[in-house]
Amino acid sequence: MRILFLDIDGVLNSDRWDQAKKPINADFLESQFDPKAVALLNELVAKIDAQIVLTSSWRLNFELEGMNALFHKVGIKRALVSYTPNLHAGQGYLTRGNEILQWILDNEAIIQTKAANYTNYLILDDNADFLLSQANQFFQTDPAVGLTPALVEEIVTRYSQY
Ligand SMILES: [Mg+2]
Repeated sequence: MRILFLDIDGVLNSDRWDQAKKPINADFLESQFDPKAVALLNELVAKIDAQIVLTSSWRLNFELEGMNALFHKVGIKRALVSYTPNLHAGQGYLTRGNEILQWILDNEAIIQTKAANYTNYLILDDNADFLLSQANQFFQTDPAVGLTPALVEEIVTRYSQY
């Protein structure tokens, strides 16, 4: 099972989107999702056939059911499988990378392999607080523009070789 560990801010929205959205988007939560980035995410998960696990700090404010309802509302076609655990990344020495590692260790039934052998995943985030062992799976977005067609193409090219 291929997993996409997904961030929201700086990936599905961006500084550019923040400038552009204001006159047209009434609902605050929905307005945090750039429709162009949503379309790119849909294209990406369809092409590489990945299931989505949320790593974003948004997961600390919404139950999974509510988050999936919001994802559905903004047009994301694949529901979230789950959230990474909250290890208080950033407050101590642990990072978002540790939260991903913990999720992998806890979910061998979902990934259908031993955690130690698991490489069939990818991480999309504008920050880089991940582990050295995750470097090959990490794709960094620029928060100025979020998810781009070029990055999607790069990921699709790499993951279609698996
Ligand atoms: Mg972010």
